[in-house]
Amino acid sequence: MKLLLIFCCLLPLLAGAQPRIGYEVHYAPHLSTEGLRVQVQVRTPRAEDSTYFHFANEVWGEPDLLRCLGGFAGEGAGYRFRVVPDSNRVVVYHPRTRVVRFSYRVRQDAAEYTRDQVNRPRVTDAYFHVLGESLFMVPDFIVSSPVEPRLTATIRWVGFPPGYVLHNTFASQVTEQTFRGRLWTEFYRSLYVGGDYRLHQFRYQNRPVYVALRGEWHHYDEPGFLLSLQQALTAQRDFWQDAGPTRYTVFMSPTVTTTDTTWRGQSIRGEGLYQGFKLQSTNNPFNSWDLLRYMFNHEMLHDWIGGQIRGAHGELTNWFTEGFTDYYAYKNRLRSGDLTLEAWVKAFNEDVIQQLYKNPERNQPNYLIKDNYWKSRAFGKLPYRRGALFAFWLDNQILKRSGYTRSLDDLMRELRQACLLPGQSFTDERFLALAQTYLHEDISYEFQKYILHGTDIPWTTPELAEGFTMDTTQPIPVLKAAGPASALRERYLNTKGSAKPVARQ
Ligand SMILES: [Zn+2]
Repeated sequence: MKLLLIFCCLLPLLAGAQPRIGYEVHYAPHLSTEGLRVQVQVRTPRAEDSTYFHFANEVWGEPDLLRCLGGFAGEGAGYRFRVVPDSNRVVVYHPRTRVVRFSYRVRQDAAEYTRDQVNRPRVTDAYFHVLGESLFMVPDFIVSSPVEPRLTATIRWVGFPPGYVLHNTFASQVTEQTFRGRLWTEFYRSLYVGGDYRLHQFRYQNRPVYVALRGEWHHYDEPGFLLSLQQALTAQRDFWQDAGPTRYTVFMSPTVTTTDTTWRGQSIRGEGLYQGFKLQSTNNPFNSWDLLRYMFNHEMLHDWIGGQIRGAHGELTNWFTEGFTDYYAYKNRLRSGDLTLEAWVKAFNEDVIQQLYKNPERNQPNYLIKDNYWKSRAFGKLPYRRGALFAFWLDNQILKRSGYTRSLDDLMRELRQACLLPGQSFTDERFLALAQTYLHEDISYEFQKYILHGTDIPWTTPELAEGFTMDTTQPIPVLKAAGPASALRERYLNTKGSAKPVARQ
């Protein structure tokens, strides 16, 4: 009896552990007007006459997303729908039942988007580009769980013409796929594309890496783009000694395409996804493929810095999450051969040192970065450059004091291993304790001064690795490299110390 009782108590828990949702995404010949029709079917815990569904009205800074939703239709009579944007919710009234089945349409809410509207659903006759969170509604009884919910979702792609490209972060070119995993960090951190995308594939240690891209780009060499992407990915996975996820996708799409020279800039945005990342860029005669290579090096590094080494304190640790990411975007481009030592020195001077010293908020304390990160561009960029320069300072300290047998690279790999353990994350304290094991000295004072307080680093040549000097005679310091480039490159990259890549367990 006791056993039976326990079993009865456990049953609802077990049944609720992995809820299932069925989706069908339907093609229409005129997607720009009809939208993608999504049919959802879910079994609720109890028979009710209404069910709440989650649909975020704001995703990654993109507001009013419920405007992209419409065309609600229940399976039979008796269905009614109420959209509540403030609660990120659609209320579905239905006959008293446990099986709720209805459909809705996801459309663009403007004929053309601006270059900054990168996260709105794009659904046109030629292609679609929709975040998972803006494609699939999930019932509130799953979403509202205090711990991150897990779910099973089957997705069927219905009626798409033969040859129509269908690709997403979980599957490629299939008409039926099943997802099992976490809601927020996996199912909703995803991207679905289709239509005139061009799909390419290469492998790293037998794991597929997809490149899904579209658009006719100015000054563009597709094989060259794919090659430098492969070069970056190989250098980074080798660096972390990590074979990467079972599949990975880099998405690349144009935002606003112009053929004239009215706007001389390039606006490129990158965002990390589960098992990949996306880039979206303006496309005009001023396209810079150097900027693009920097972007994919930076975005890819977030798989580790920010992804596996997760900061516990949000923007307060952006000096690390963005700054050290930026530092390694440059250092790994030197490592992969994408930049020569001369080009690396030039880029580090122009993009990091000069940008920091020209920033009007350069000496503001770290806590103000948190307050103003999203409000001010100068504050938003500050942790990138301050952190990158501090990383260079620390890297030099470790190289020098270890007699060029260890570098910041070793510290980063050790940090990753520590943060991969359950419940572990990045904190200033963990970082400082680890740095102490490399330097045999506590750098809390320097950390407080240069990172938290925002004081300029007083560069002295004896502190730098042999071959580097910092010219401080001008208001903006200038990094210089002396002696044979190959010897300095080898010393700085600490090529002898690095181990062979190994597959992830
Ligand atoms: Zn970043």
